[in-house]
Amino acid sequence: MTDAAAERKMQFLFALRSRGVTDKRVLNAMEKIDRGAFIRGIFAERAYEDTPLPIACGQTISQPSVVGLMTQALEVHPRDKVLEVGTGSGYQAAILSQLARRVYTVDRHPRLVREAQGVFDALSIANITTFTADGSHGLPDHAPFDRIIVTAAAEDPPGPLLAQLKIGGIMVLPVGQSDTVQSLIRVRRTETGLEYDELRSVRFVPLLEGLGRD
Ligand code: SAH
Repeated sequence: MTDAAAERKMQFLFALRSRGVTDKRVLNAMEKIDRGAFIRGIFAERAYEDTPLPIACGQTISQPSVVGLMTQALEVHPRDKVLEVGTGSGYQAAILSQLARRVYTVDRHPRLVREAQGVFDALSIANITTFTADGSHGLPDHAPFDRIIVTAAAEDPPGPLLAQLKIGGIMVLPVGQSDTVQSLIRVRRTETGLEYDELRSVRFVPLLEGLGRD
């Protein structure tokens, strides 16, 4: 690594810590997985800034500190089976792949899924399975999940996703109208029902129905 690259990485990790990402395992995963590998074209040079950036299909790769905080809130254990709805660039799934046994990630845009799969292959990440589908229905064939993370905002937590969460499971997702204030919510399924807590305000692209055109 060049001095400049090492310096950039140190600043990237410092920004994460100063924004509340303190979990060692999460920080290690974010140190290991190069965000630059998930961004193409002119925005690639801004990969280490704590900012969301445009990706294909009019979507965005989330802000690194938000990725870190959501991953931390998910309390992933090494044996967990995790579902991510909203593959996008694949960055969040790659971070999860370092913390969980297996990650299933689904996006409604075939192109994003294809490109993310290409990056996972290039990085030799073998414990992520990608799907092109409307993820608001979850993945019934692979349910139930220990952890579910949704990286697009719905008005309410989708029922099928709640139904596919194991007892003891945790789901983290943004809820609210698109383009207005959304809240990051954590849902825990207990023996007796669902417990909700609100973590912070966030801004995500909307969870849309059906498949994208490309
Ligand atoms: N987690 C991503 C960022 C996701 S942006 C990353 O790390 O880069 C939100 C993504 O959700 C977009 O790619 C969008 O296509 C996807 N999305 C929106 N609605 C969806 C749905 N119903 N099912 C699956 N994916 C959806």
